[in-house]
Amino acid sequence: MKRGLVWFTEDLRVDDNETLLKAIEENDEIVPVFFLKTFSDQLQFTIPRRGMAREKFIRDSLLNLQKKFNELGGTLLVVEGTPNVELPRLCVKYQIRKVYTKKQVGSEEKTLQSEIKQQLLKLGVDFETYSTSTLYHPDDLPFSVRDIPMLFTKFRKLTEKESKVRVPFEAPQRIVTPQLEVLPLALKECSTPEWMIGGEDAAQQRLVEFIWESHAIRTYKETRDQLTGLNFSSKCSAWLSQGCISPRRIYSEIKRYEQQVVSNDSTYWLVFELLWRDFFRFSFKKHPKSYFLLNGLGQQALYKQFDPRKFEAWTQGKTSQSLINAGMNELRTTGFISNRMRQILASYWVFGLKQDWRYGAAWFEHCLADYDVASNWGNWAYIAGVGNDNRGGREFNIEKQTQLFDRDGLYREMWLKK
Ligand SMILES: Cc1cc2nc3c(=O)[nH]c(=O)nc-3n(C[C@H](O)[C@H](O)[C@H](O)COP(=O)(O)OP(=O)(O)OC[C@H]3O[C@@H](n4cnc5c(N)ncnc54)[C@H](O)[C@@H]3O)c2cc1C
Repeated sequence: MKRGLVWFTEDLRVDDNETLLKAIEENDEIVPVFFLKTFSDQLQFTIPRRGMAREKFIRDSLLNLQKKFNELGGTLLVVEGTPNVELPRLCVKYQIRKVYTKKQVGSEEKTLQSEIKQQLLKLGVDFETYSTSTLYHPDDLPFSVRDIPMLFTKFRKLTEKESKVRVPFEAPQRIVTPQLEVLPLALKECSTPEWMIGGEDAAQQRLVEFIWESHAIRTYKETRDQLTGLNFSSKCSAWLSQGCISPRRIYSEIKRYEQQVVSNDSTYWLVFELLWRDFFRFSFKKHPKSYFLLNGLGQQALYKQFDPRKFEAWTQGKTSQSLINAGMNELRTTGFISNRMRQILASYWVFGLKQDWRYGAAWFEHCLADYDVASNWGNWAYIAGVGNDNRGGREFNIEKQTQLFDRDGLYREMWLKK
């Protein structure tokens, strides 16, 4: 009997999941596993990494994945412990010949993965990783990781011209697993928005709603900077971050919509944003550690101080700026904010309060349900002027932003009460 173990991380889906398909193809039985603890209980710049919103989203997603596995004839094993301790133990227990998992992006995650690989090789267990989280497969890029352009526009133009997005894989028809003990997954209470339900089913429903039912994709380019409402943007980020849906699946639905309904600047712009996501992920491959340094990719950070009182005021929505306070309240209570608001809040922390940008990034990491190591740290470094930018950062004028995006004050009214 050939048995493979699938170590799930940020790929909580059965659709377009090459890791899972390969394991099924090469084995008689698979043991699919998720570990609840990796770095979640560690601190990042003195701030706990994973807050309630993401915790809840992951639990929702695991429940949904368990349901999907049951429908396909198998079970998902959810383990309380950490992979470096538990994975070798499981390999021995289930006589595993090979472990299949997703390639990691963050430097610590990569280190953990290679340490585990070494442990497993000593036990005679093979270890293989797959790239399943980007729109473009890394093997299809027109440059090596070392030569990834520093600027997004160059990256985008070269990639669009010379690479193709692969067709997504279909979900498996059947999954065979041994009898596995199912850990009850208590759902956490948390005030995330109603639409934010983790899991592959909810991700696919949201895509249908955004593209096919509301046709909001038709006007996305004009609406994407709004601060409130459901359909001004896709809201796919948390599902993408936990891998409940693949960017290739989103892309294939956009293309289908373009063929069957309309192809315009807005439909293209959603692909454009998915490319930004790829850009940060691939840049992380090139600079695995630099995005966490004060000077980022090598520029001089403007501010290096950290004032705990300013941090308290910013995080708790108690600064002198009402727009900032509203945004920080929304972030803290719901785990989600619009892209525009993220830019404004980050800019204010760096340029308004003149602080070490990394504490702001760490607070976002804690709060965001859609936290993604490359998108978060990449965007923060960009705004602070130490990332993939050659214009010295992004300082937003709060008065102007208020006039542009909350002239009627509705957004502030909604979130200043919290
Ligand atoms: C300071 C800061 C921190 C951020 N932190 C994160 C994070 O931790 N996780 C995260 O997923 N996004 C992050 N973003 C990017 C962006 O704000 C969110 O992806 C987006 O607001 C999520 O809403 P949406 O899914 O409706 O996006 P849409 O506008 O519908 O975009 C579609 C998808 O494209 C991707 N995308 C859009 N904008 C960006 C961008 N600027 N950079 C990278 N990918 C993008 C996302 O995957 C998004 O789901 C951050 C942006 C800033 C300025």
